[in-house]
Amino acid sequence: MIKDIFDYTKGELKAELESLGEKPYRAKQIFSWLHARSAVSFDEMTDLSKDLRARLKEKYSIGGLSVPDMQKSKLDGTRKYLFRLYDGELIEGVFMEYREWNTACISSQVGCAMGCRFCASTVDGLSRDMTAGEMVQEVYEMERSTGKKISHIVVMGSGEPLLNYDNLLRFIDIITDGDGKGVSQRNITVSTCGIVPAIERLAMEKLGREHPQINLAISLHASNDDKRKMLMPIAEKYSMAELVRASRLYYEKTHRKITFEYALVKGENDSEADARELAELLQGMPVLVNLIPVNPVTESGYSRPSREAVINFKNKLENFGINGSIRRELGSDIDGACGQLRMRHSRDARR
Ligand code: SAH
Repeated sequence: MIKDIFDYTKGELKAELESLGEKPYRAKQIFSWLHARSAVSFDEMTDLSKDLRARLKEKYSIGGLSVPDMQKSKLDGTRKYLFRLYDGELIEGVFMEYREWNTACISSQVGCAMGCRFCASTVDGLSRDMTAGEMVQEVYEMERSTGKKISHIVVMGSGEPLLNYDNLLRFIDIITDGDGKGVSQRNITVSTCGIVPAIERLAMEKLGREHPQINLAISLHASNDDKRKMLMPIAEKYSMAELVRASRLYYEKTHRKITFEYALVKGENDSEADARELAELLQGMPVLVNLIPVNPVTESGYSRPSREAVINFKNKLENFGINGSIRRELGSDIDGACGQLRMRHSRDARR
């Protein structure tokens, strides 16, 4: 079977090349063609012999992500991409110009099994995991079509990255490799709904020789277990106390400040009592609570609090000693919330 060469780490490519009777340094050449020099065909790799290029073509494909739709914001540089994968599945990614740098928000699974009540990505459930090769290509396709370099990556598109753990780590290995794109681990943020054993495993992982340096964002969205269960089915499986304990372990091992995401839903989790309870839960470790006025998704029936109520909630948190920030909204004129563009397309296709 022909395999996607984007899916190989440099180490794995070395082994592949050796099995083809080639010198291992060829792997480094090929890897940098793909990941630093933006090659999309083996013919471009002119420092390889014609014979080797022919053999590579027989054995591997090079990606194959297409862009059936893209929306460009008229308000800022945000672009929302609909990507089609080799098997026809659709996923989304977002390109954002934020501060002095460009950020890619990428998906890690096709659909999602987590069932969060406010989220459009999960409405039709999970189709499949994405490969590491597909994840890197989301970033490269955004760079290619904007002509701009991406320095920051947030794994916050559709899917639960920590339930696609091996492919996520492979993605990080590939995208941080200095012979390729060389993104700094510190510029990568992985967002999770809180898969406790996977957070603990990640904390203990050695990426290179060190504990990970990637940032963890935890989607909390509630101030206590009862409320969280109403919004997020995963709360039935892991309590918030366990989740905070796992986050603490991640902080202790990595010294990376943890971000907790909190989607403010009018009348559900935006009261002063919520702010107090949340602050008590998070006492004693350096955290940032990122407040996101919920993006109303047609199905959910949830609505966002007023701007004032959001600022009020942030101030309350700060009075209780917890740093808060309010998510800046980019691309609010395009299908902003996770999964909305894809949802529209799959609905259209079904009609
Ligand atoms: N599964 C991961 C990553 C994907 S979701 C996670 O749960 O973190 C990325 C972030 O967007 C999460 O914080 C998620 O809760 C949030 N989100 C999803 N739908 C939203 C909506 N309609 N409004 C605001 N935030 C939303």
